[in-house]
Amino acid sequence: MSIINQENSIRRKPKHMLSIKEIPVKGYEKVIEAIDPNTNLHCIIAIHSLKLGPALGGVRIHSYNTQQDALEDVLRLSKAMTYKSAIVENGLGGGKSVIMANPKKEKTEALLLSFAEVLNSLQGTYIAAEDVGTTTEDMMVLKKRTPYVCALPIEKSSGDPSRFTAWGVFRGLQAVAEKLWRTNSLRKKTIAIQGLGSVGAKLANILFWEGAELILCDSDPKHVNHMANMYGGEVVDPKDFFSVKCDILAPCALGGIINEETIPQLRCEAVAGAANNQLLRPENGLQLMQKGILHAPDNIINSGGITNAAAEFDQDGYNPKRVRDKVNQIYELLIEVFNRSEREKKSPNQVADEIAEFNIAHEVGRRKVPINFKR
Ligand code: NAD
Repeated sequence: MSIINQENSIRRKPKHMLSIKEIPVKGYEKVIEAIDPNTNLHCIIAIHSLKLGPALGGVRIHSYNTQQDALEDVLRLSKAMTYKSAIVENGLGGGKSVIMANPKKEKTEALLLSFAEVLNSLQGTYIAAEDVGTTTEDMMVLKKRTPYVCALPIEKSSGDPSRFTAWGVFRGLQAVAEKLWRTNSLRKKTIAIQGLGSVGAKLANILFWEGAELILCDSDPKHVNHMANMYGGEVVDPKDFFSVKCDILAPCALGGIINEETIPQLRCEAVAGAANNQLLRPENGLQLMQKGILHAPDNIINSGGITNAAAEFDQDGYNPKRVRDKVNQIYELLIEVFNRSEREKKSPNQVADEIAEFNIAHEVGRRKVPINFKR
């Protein structure tokens, strides 16, 4: 039984001492903060938009310096999810959650189960998936207590999204090659990858078989050396990554890495990779353009993962072949964005945002049949 305090909108469950408080944020559907002292859960869930469907977005576990940092991160990331889903017309809105904890030391089953209760309180308006600091196994723990979770390593679910993300990034790199060099082949092109995790490592593998030359970078020296041996690649130190000479720079680790400090260092013809929110500020897209560097907007090039997760809710069930065909379309979408950017003299990220805003305003791709969470 839950006691609801209407005045300050704090709901308490005596058994778990879970408290949920709404944080009013202009332009967002709903933002909640939840605390459970019994399990050390302290999280924020932001639902940016429900206009095209329920909000889907990852659960990030990170030790933020301050609660304000966590709030800013979740607001930024949830809005980016709205835009990404709107562009690929998958019938989903945008949301994200952050749990303020060290994923290596403080992630416990009790904490995750308590987070699952917070998900239940949102009654399917927000659907959780893995993100930085969480794994598909963590999603299985959530599943014990909530149906509002996806990308599980089980039948009828879509599993680890990173293989679709990596393939989509590869299709994006092909579109870059077509635009810059009038060939979609990446053979003999030098591609520098920052971050050899779930996506970056798979991308390196695809590019190796494509015949590309690889420059590899990761904060884990042992891992990067191992990968360089595997693919005959060169290693670059993280501090030198942005000044490395290459054809395409592929950021596959952190956000905010294209900024006033790094842009002057760049010696590449294009920036195209998996990392979310690569531009620190939207204006950085225009600065890249003025420097003659083609940028593939991350909300398009890395959309393979969300396309895969969304397919889990297809009425006739998850079908990886259909997902593959849809992810392949990243190529055509990017070519369209690059051409429009050239014609209209706008940066590619601005064009991508305009497509998303048009789709949201006109409800293009809106989900028509509600999701059946009992599937
Ligand atoms: P991951 O955590 O598996 O891998 C990140 C890798 O980057 C790790 O190997 C880490 O050691 C390395 N790294 C961290 N800081 C670094 C630095 N300063 N320099 C060099 N390497 C560094 O993450 P992932 O799932 O591969 O995702 C990578 C990026 O792509 C993230 O920005 C994520 O938000 C985005 N993304 C991922 C998916 C997906 O399907 N996993 C989908 C869309 C977007």
